[in-house]
Amino acid sequence: MPLAPHSSLVHGPGLEALLAPLESLLGASRHLSAHKLVYRNPLTEPHFLPRFRFLGPEGGDAYHRLGIFAGIHGDEVAGSLAAVRFLAELAAQPTLARGYEIFLYPVCNPTGYADGTRHNRAGLDLNREFWRPSAQLEVKVMENEIRQLQFDGFLSLHADDTSDGLYGFALGTTHAVNVLAPALRAASRILPRNHRRRIDNFPARNGIVRQRYFGMLGPAPGTRPKPFEVVLETPALAPIPAQVDASVVALHTILEQHRALLSFSQNL
Ligand SMILES: [Zn+2]
Repeated sequence: MPLAPHSSLVHGPGLEALLAPLESLLGASRHLSAHKLVYRNPLTEPHFLPRFRFLGPEGGDAYHRLGIFAGIHGDEVAGSLAAVRFLAELAAQPTLARGYEIFLYPVCNPTGYADGTRHNRAGLDLNREFWRPSAQLEVKVMENEIRQLQFDGFLSLHADDTSDGLYGFALGTTHAVNVLAPALRAASRILPRNHRRRIDNFPARNGIVRQRYFGMLGPAPGTRPKPFEVVLETPALAPIPAQVDASVVALHTILEQHRALLSFSQNL
């Protein structure tokens, strides 16, 4: 999440091409469904935020509901590609999502994605607009989702062009140590980790930052019990396929580790 505004544009595949692998799975997988969250500014054509839901096999206990968010910075296309690939892999092997109900938003900033820009078409960084309140329709749509769905956990995918390695944000010690650290370890087989003591103006250790930005996408303030939040950042200047591979490996690891954590806490 670099602070400097971007001057260069980064384009991913068109929205339709990006989502094509999932669209083709919709009829075939009974676990997967899709929805379009349409929003429209009176002055512009309507846009939509794509949402996919994946219901894994039952895990023996109540489903754990996760929100996975990518592309809130429209030029961080690796995250959007990784979100799509990850879901396609779950459809191919649904047991990977045992016990989880996943809502996945591969493109949280549709105009920024279309334009290849970090900001949306109104020129705002949407990841600083949450719960302030914001006039941006994308943010209103997402806040509404977050309020309605009451996620147990938030996973966000980003890329940082000021970082030469992988890192992430996690607030609670439990998730920093037991979920984000193993995810970074697994992903660092593909891309190096950022070991700097300060990342993005925050103190960091082994690629883990334990703070968050004001206004970033996440639970409504005061939500109890407090959902967990993990943000993964890939080095944006690394080859896109490597960023995608690293993010997908990290997401699988997060699902496994969080499940292990849940079953451990239930056995206490
Ligand atoms: Zn970002």
